[in-house]
Amino acid sequence: MNDYIRAFLKSLFPQRCAYCGKVISADRLACDSCQKALSRIDGKVCLKCGRGIKLCSCRGEKYFASQAAPFYYEGVVRNGLHRFKFRKGQQNAEAFCEEMAKTVSERYADVTFDCIVAVPMTKKSIRQRGYNQIDILCRGLEEKLGVRYESNALIKLYETRKQHGISLVLRKGNLTGVFDVPDREIINGKTVLLCDDISTSGETFNECAKMLWLSGAKEVRCISVALTRQTKNKDNIHII
Ligand SMILES: [Zn+2]
Ligand SMILES: [Zn+2]
Repeated sequence: MNDYIRAFLKSLFPQRCAYCGKVISADRLACDSCQKALSRIDGKVCLKCGRGIKLCSCRGEKYFASQAAPFYYEGVVRNGLHRFKFRKGQQNAEAFCEEMAKTVSERYADVTFDCIVAVPMTKKSIRQRGYNQIDILCRGLEEKLGVRYESNALIKLYETRKQHGISLVLRKGNLTGVFDVPDREIINGKTVLLCDDISTSGETFNECAKMLWLSGAKEVRCISVALTRQTKNKDNIHII
């Protein structure tokens, strides 16, 4: 979308806070109170799982090199992502993309990415929702980072049970064979930035990274808007 059309479309709708929906001035992405309440992941951070050092629960080898996110999935961030995913809040993507781009630039400062790849949704889920929120995030990241987005690099072959509410062992089995790389040439030899909206156990990232690795990816690094504080599955971790 060119800047002129974007400015025109923006002028038709009031700017709203990406987290609570309150009308705010056109040059902002969040209201003051949400800005202050953002559950940022800062201080000493584990560079592998992306959580604060005290919350690190890294275990086992992963197919990705590291995970990062600007936020924990709670409070106003949880509200904002809920609006974005379920209440047609596509216009809120910019706030999340800006925060993710900042995190990528800081945590992955020494990595040169060849492409961005989305954790995919099935066609059926996209149809039901009316849009693919992860695709929107990737397009924003492409623009902000100047890294090419390969929109069809990974596909999801069929729907699985939701990842939350099932044990970690079942999660792993639940995802096996779900994702595919239709054209290996797109991925072969590439350093990939893999993007999702929310990550809990990291198993979805890991299964996607496995398929990318099997297709010859040189390295996979992950970025999401938010991470849950805990990775262990307790059935009370309820994702939206
Ligand atoms: Zn707000
Ligand atoms: Zn860790």
